[in-house]
Amino acid sequence: MADDAHPGWALYDLGRLRANLAEIRRRIGPGQGCIVALKGNAYGHGAVPVARALDADGLAAFMTGSFDEACRLKSERLRTPVVMFAGALPAGMADLVDAGLVPTVVDRAGAEAAARAAPSGAAAPVYVKVNAGLGRLGVPLEAAEAFLAALAGLPNLEVRGLYTHLPFGDAHGRDWAARRLAAFDALLERLQDRGLSPPLTQARASACVAAGLSDRASAVCVGHLLYGLSPFADDSLADLSAYRPVLAEVGSRLIQVAAHPQGSDIAIGGSYGIRHSRRTGVAPIGVAQGLVRPVPGSRPEALIRGRRAPILAVSLEHMVLDLADAPDAEPGDEVLLLGGEGDGAIGLAELAAWFGMTPLDAVMTLSGRLPARYRDTRGGAAERTPLPGETRR
Ligand SMILES: *Cc1c(COP(=O)(O)O)cnc(C)c1O
Repeated sequence: MADDAHPGWALYDLGRLRANLAEIRRRIGPGQGCIVALKGNAYGHGAVPVARALDADGLAAFMTGSFDEACRLKSERLRTPVVMFAGALPAGMADLVDAGLVPTVVDRAGAEAAARAAPSGAAAPVYVKVNAGLGRLGVPLEAAEAFLAALAGLPNLEVRGLYTHLPFGDAHGRDWAARRLAAFDALLERLQDRGLSPPLTQARASACVAAGLSDRASAVCVGHLLYGLSPFADDSLADLSAYRPVLAEVGSRLIQVAAHPQGSDIAIGGSYGIRHSRRTGVAPIGVAQGLVRPVPGSRPEALIRGRRAPILAVSLEHMVLDLADAPDAEPGDEVLLLGGEGDGAIGLAELAAWFGMTPLDAVMTLSGRLPARYRDTRGGAAERTPLPGETRR
């Protein structure tokens, strides 16, 4: 097994991804469509595998922020349109249009550049982003109506979508988002009255959807909830137990097991010398694979043969585990940092807390450095579906 050469993996469950999407759709009802945010390599989960898994689901668009990532998605010949979040200078619009992507425009110069790049006889499709209060990117809400009226007069440009972003993490933010959604709704109403409303409109992302806020836009755009991650810092804002993290398992295997007799002058984790005999194991996973050193005072654990084993030390490429409760453990045994079955199972929130990360941070850092595996639980039984370039378990 190739895995023997350097055991370590992150396993993504595409069945959970689909179940999370189904739950989002149940929540928003049949009246609104769904855009999926694939930025940041699909929040670490792999933009191409996620896009492939959802391409037949009738989504309104895939959205991403990186040109490279968007080109990789385009080369998959997906049926779902690939739309770029704002990220390009006007001089870069031609590259996006030539690649068959739908750029986001936030000003007149960008819109004109996209129009100039349209193939002869055709119109370049764009989305327009409105700054409805976040204060980051977009045409100011107050100027959006005049902006769309001006774009309607530009030849070779087709405004396909109009969106904004109103993320929040606590109850104060929820009240702010409700006010800003109402202002965006009022804009949509004015645009509709003037016949300027693009076919797709969107304001709600995970936080608004999870908090049960509603609006009159035609679609939502989700990232966090789709991947089973909470958009909130404050867990009391909504019950998110219906969404399961798509990152289902992070693991490695023991490469050495050692017995240290009572009184050995060893230095595990900075404690020099031991009073009682001890068995330890080493797995080749550490800071280089995305872990950080544990929060002082936290007691991180891993699962070996279904039992929790304390993590005694994390170094650049290894971790040392205490095998006191796993006396039969031997080299080759799986070491699960995340996942497992039953009472001992280690959840993403627990893992993230031990290492002082948010669940999203944990997914992003671990995903970047460990080989990706995918499993598809469609129809119940777990079936692993290796993708090109990915190893089979
Ligand atoms: C990332 C992003 C989203 C999705 O946000 P989530 O909170 O992860 O659902 C929506 N809209 C924009 C503009 C984004 O950048």
